[in-house]
Amino acid sequence: MRRCNRCLLPENYPGIYFNHENVCSFCLDYQNIGRTQGLKEKPKLNLERIFAENKNKADYDCLVCFSGGKDSTYLLYLLTKVYRLRVLAYTCDTGFLSEVAHNNIKNTVEKLNVEHIFLSPPSSIYKKIYSYILSRPNQGCQGIICGICFSILRDTATRLATVMHIPFIALGFVGSGLFPNNSPLGGILRNDIFHNIYSHAFNEEEKRYILGLYRYQLPMSKMIPTSLTPFLIKILKRCPHKLSRFVTKRYPRILLALEESEYNEEKISKEVVSLGLIKPGNEGPEVTNCLLNYLMIYIDTKNLGYNPYVASFSNLVRTGMAKREMWIAVFEKWLEEVKKDTYANEEIGLVLEKLNLTKEDLYFSKNRK
Ligand SMILES: [Zn+2]
Repeated sequence: MRRCNRCLLPENYPGIYFNHENVCSFCLDYQNIGRTQGLKEKPKLNLERIFAENKNKADYDCLVCFSGGKDSTYLLYLLTKVYRLRVLAYTCDTGFLSEVAHNNIKNTVEKLNVEHIFLSPPSSIYKKIYSYILSRPNQGCQGIICGICFSILRDTATRLATVMHIPFIALGFVGSGLFPNNSPLGGILRNDIFHNIYSHAFNEEEKRYILGLYRYQLPMSKMIPTSLTPFLIKILKRCPHKLSRFVTKRYPRILLALEESEYNEEKISKEVVSLGLIKPGNEGPEVTNCLLNYLMIYIDTKNLGYNPYVASFSNLVRTGMAKREMWIAVFEKWLEEVKKDTYANEEIGLVLEKLNLTKEDLYFSKNRK
């Protein structure tokens, strides 16, 4: 497949065109205006100063969202051993964490000697979200699903940090374009797809859980009873985006701590292995901490003709944070395997079984009948 000479974007990517040197329009835009999709080009924050100013104000200095992947593993190391913060590591368990992620988590918290908690939101919520999206027409399920899961991660972390008076939440996301700032009130309920799932698929208990999370985005959240939240959200959902962002609580502060440091994928991969935090092989590009990834890559590649991660990884390649050759080889391999239906069959089978779905229920199957 024809791809850009500088990034990973393929010829069938929406809105792409190439110049005579086979450089894509997104790379040319980046070169000309110094901006890349979803990755904010702004001066780096002075993490050292921010942390120093907020140290020792509570039982913990920082809540670290820890997925068990190499990035958040490195983040945990950075904050505990380099910045010397008192950290609480937090894993939001969707029920779809891979075994590799579980092993990495266990090994890392032991080696770094940090306190760690798992929290599993009701599993029916995740299963309903995944089943709903995977079985309906969409322009790429990975973007939608990861966006919604990220919102739930952020909101559960916000609740934890608020209750425990922790001033910061640190995230290991890099170049993903996921917007980590406090969401406008109504958060994912402003997302039409999530709102449909919420209205049509969730029972009263599941709705209450989601609303309960929103309470913690409001100022003086602890003084507002959960029963009032639906009314408040209804009112605030109607107010303009900017105003609701203004009203939204600014505490705890959410930091993309890795994106704010000098991130380099290759260096981090080597370091987490040499520090003994991740076993050799488990830091590689084909290992994932979320089993759903396999299914999302499979479906999106079938439907769109390219890998759903191609845009975010192109961002990293463009800015020199990841190696182009390695990712091209991986993406081409996946593309071939998806075409031949040999891609991650075992893992995909496992995910479908957990969701009580068959391949026939998935959107592309219906589409191609
Ligand atoms: Zn390009």
